[in-house]
Amino acid sequence: MDAQIKKTALRLFTYGLYIGTSGTGADVAAGTINWVSQASFQPPLVMAAVKADSHLHQLIETTGQFAINVLSADQKEIAQDFFRPTKQENNTLNGHPYESGSATGVPLLTELPAWVEVKVTDTVKRGDHTVFIGEVIDAGIRDENAKALDMWNTGWFYAG
Ligand code: FAD
Repeated sequence: MDAQIKKTALRLFTYGLYIGTSGTGADVAAGTINWVSQASFQPPLVMAAVKADSHLHQLIETTGQFAINVLSADQKEIAQDFFRPTKQENNTLNGHPYESGSATGVPLLTELPAWVEVKVTDTVKRGDHTVFIGEVIDAGIRDENAKALDMWNTGWFYAG
């Protein structure tokens, strides 16, 4: 296999951008992620691939719960704020307000237009990211007119 062609082909996959959150109370983590998809209608399943050496990974693994917060097209700057480790201060994460999800207690970022709360059903540990599959147990919309942030339009890549 030609490594450059493999990289170019994988970078043509399309992605949205999301902030994955997990944990409760004083031990929480949030990170911008793009390897996310719905995986079943019934039950409603989603999957997310999470960096194995991250704090987010550790909390999803130990609590069995996470949330996917959907970024809108005009929230590229917010996505950028979650490329770095999480700092919790005065009900904010990396400077952005959150509330605890009613189903899981996981942080939900209140500036973002939609979210799902997820209970992990299956974990696939292989390579440098772990695939967490989970059932959507609650969901919410804050802005019905929002359009999702499209990875391609940001000029960023996390694939290859
Ligand atoms: P963290 O691991 O959260 O924090 C590092 C700090 O926390 C260190 O100080 C360390 O000492 C401490 N720490 C580490 N582990 C623990 C622990 N277990 N307990 C307590 N403290 C700990 N990542 C994905 O997983 N999936 C994706 O799909 C994805 N897509 C991305 C797309 C783009 C365009 C970019 C730029 C990044 C993407 N990332 C993705 C990376 C993700 O955004 C970062 O991993 C995330 O923001 C957290 O950063 P971190 O891993 O450096 O920090």
